[in-house]
Amino acid sequence: MSEVLNVEELFASKVFTRATMKERLPKNVYKEVIKVMEQGGELSLATADVVAKAMKDWAVENGATHYTHWFQPLTGITAEKHDSFVSHPDENGKMIMEFSGKELIKGEPDASSFPSGGLRATFEARGYTAWDITSPAFLKEDATGVILCVPTAFCSYKGEALDKKTPLLRSMEAVSEQAVRIVRLFGNTEATKVVASVGPEQEYFLVDREKYLKRPDLIFAGRTLFGAPAPKGQEMEDHYFGTIRERIGAYMKDLNIELWKLGVTAKTQHNEVAPAQHELAPIYETANIAVDHNQLVMETMKKVAGRHGLTCLLHEKPFAGVNGSGKHNNWSLTTDNGVNLLDPGDTPNENIQFLLVLACIIKAVDKHADLLRQSASDVGNDHRLGANEAPPAIISIFLGEQLEDVVKQLVETGEAAHVLQGGKLETGVSTLPDFTKDATDRNRTSPFAFTGNKFEFRMVGSADSIASPNTTLNAIVAEAFCEAADVLENAEDFDTAVHDLIKQYLTEHQRIIFNGNGYSDEWVAEAERRGLPNIKSMIEAVDTLTTEKSVKLFEKFGIFTKAELESREEVLYETYAKTINIEALTMIDMASKQIIPAVISYTKSLADTVIAVKEAGADASAQADLLKTVSEKLSEMKAALEKLEDVEAKASVMDDVKEQAFYYKDVVKEAMAELRAPADEAEMLVDKKVWPIPTYGDLIFEV
Ligand code: ADP
Ligand code: MG
Repeated sequence: MSEVLNVEELFASKVFTRATMKERLPKNVYKEVIKVMEQGGELSLATADVVAKAMKDWAVENGATHYTHWFQPLTGITAEKHDSFVSHPDENGKMIMEFSGKELIKGEPDASSFPSGGLRATFEARGYTAWDITSPAFLKEDATGVILCVPTAFCSYKGEALDKKTPLLRSMEAVSEQAVRIVRLFGNTEATKVVASVGPEQEYFLVDREKYLKRPDLIFAGRTLFGAPAPKGQEMEDHYFGTIRERIGAYMKDLNIELWKLGVTAKTQHNEVAPAQHELAPIYETANIAVDHNQLVMETMKKVAGRHGLTCLLHEKPFAGVNGSGKHNNWSLTTDNGVNLLDPGDTPNENIQFLLVLACIIKAVDKHADLLRQSASDVGNDHRLGANEAPPAIISIFLGEQLEDVVKQLVETGEAAHVLQGGKLETGVSTLPDFTKDATDRNRTSPFAFTGNKFEFRMVGSADSIASPNTTLNAIVAEAFCEAADVLENAEDFDTAVHDLIKQYLTEHQRIIFNGNGYSDEWVAEAERRGLPNIKSMIEAVDTLTTEKSVKLFEKFGIFTKAELESREEVLYETYAKTINIEALTMIDMASKQIIPAVISYTKSLADTVIAVKEAGADASAQADLLKTVSEKLSEMKAALEKLEDVEAKASVMDDVKEQAFYYKDVVKEAMAELRAPADEAEMLVDKKVWPIPTYGDLIFEV
């Protein structure tokens, strides 16, 4: 019998929840905190002191010795610097653990060692972290002890955002304000804000830690840079939703427990398409909390893996030839009085508010397809987007049959008189129940799919923060809402005006709607005819951030200044160049110190064999043939290695970051592929006993 888990008790046991606050704070203080959480504003320092003390007492009772302002710099991961609660002892040498309101609200890490893209020169090293009161504080527990983590935003001395959180929070306010204008038009006087909610489905790989440690490419680059395919891949479709093996199951169980303690609603778990690939999805929550929690999910996945002798790979493409990992970002907007703006109801054709919201989103996505594409790009994702396993690099919207039909009627006649219904699902088995079907089937290839009462943005990479995609979504939709509200608030005849506006938006932007197979070549050609952007790589997407259209959008809603956008561009180019640089150096290292020496020693033993066999008077032609082939691969490798060393050296001294990033993409990556090819061929020829690193078969089938 396994031990009974009390999940209700476990859940959020490491979180300074509202319930905990209510219990521990004086009534008036609690009220003030809730007011600021819900309506914005600032806590007085006196109140902050009371909250800090309660938070510290709770943390210390739970074993905490330190606190940290937990933030999300532009590295895409989280940062923390621990401070203990230890204070100056009194004259008797007695020390009291302390944590002040000031320390809770504001931190001052040295900002000079985080990427800032020129926003902050080293002599202006000051950066501030500010408490994000809307995301609850929590306790992280590991070998370091127990640390109280206060979620924060990170800004420069001049107030420029140095992180991913600040613009996200700004975008949430923008979309809320504009969405409230929309619902007001339809007579909703109660809603005071509209919340962007997000549910990210996280894919990941697990490999055996011992084997991982024998692969410098996994250690330094997070993905394999060499490796011939195993005899079996994912073609049998036997892993997706397959029975979860014991070792993986034990990992998932532990992972869930750790996440539940942190208040993360880990909900679904299953095996994914590729061998050794899995997925975890939580229940959706407010965007900034979802972003924080997704960071915790990624971090916890890695941490728990270590305890099970495993390593968790979050890279978008750890293995060539089998699927990589993504993160479906489910997004919707809900008023604080409970109306999901993306819920069409049973008769979407009559739901004018829904149709207006939908038309605005269609307009926003069409107008800013380039920005949305950019928001989901990172170095690893270049291996997926457009590679027939993930959505294409072209943004389009899938609406499903029901809504597509409604849109078609509206565009053609200005009216949507009828609506397709799902009907009954007949199984043909008398003992099985008949279901009512959804009105729409699923589509797996669309980058931006309407799925019932939300949009699922499927381009995001598995290792990436979900802050940027959601910041962009909120921003572009805020703009469309704003433009619609500007027209409709002044309309003399609202009903006619809204009807005309929906028709106009749908007509002008219907080119972005595509319900077919996004993986097909026909779609690429069709999209080009429609004039939709097809941005093929991360760095080709970077300058979409500073187009006139983009700067206007982000400045209008106070989400990014032009300087902030330019700084992000620079950071992206730098990140790209640095990442490919590490990959290239790792390949050089592995080829020269491991693979080439192994192949040389194999040719030596073949040569010895040829001589010995000949001396013994037998036919050595098979051995000699093999020796010849392996030697050819060896010289190809040697030549490719020299070329890679040469271009890598050129790349590393280039001054202009943009030029450098493109050189890495066009020249260095090419040279890397040229080195990989003969090495992978050699792997198929060389005795496994002398092959210096675990193979694909070892890594993904023997977990
Ligand atoms: P599937 O794999 O079938 O797409 P999953 O259950 O794996 O579905 O994930 C769906 C995700 O969408 C979950 O995180 C879920 O909480 C989230 N979700 C559901 N409704 C909403 C909503 N209104 N807004 C945002 N996310 C939502
Ligand atoms: Mg899923």
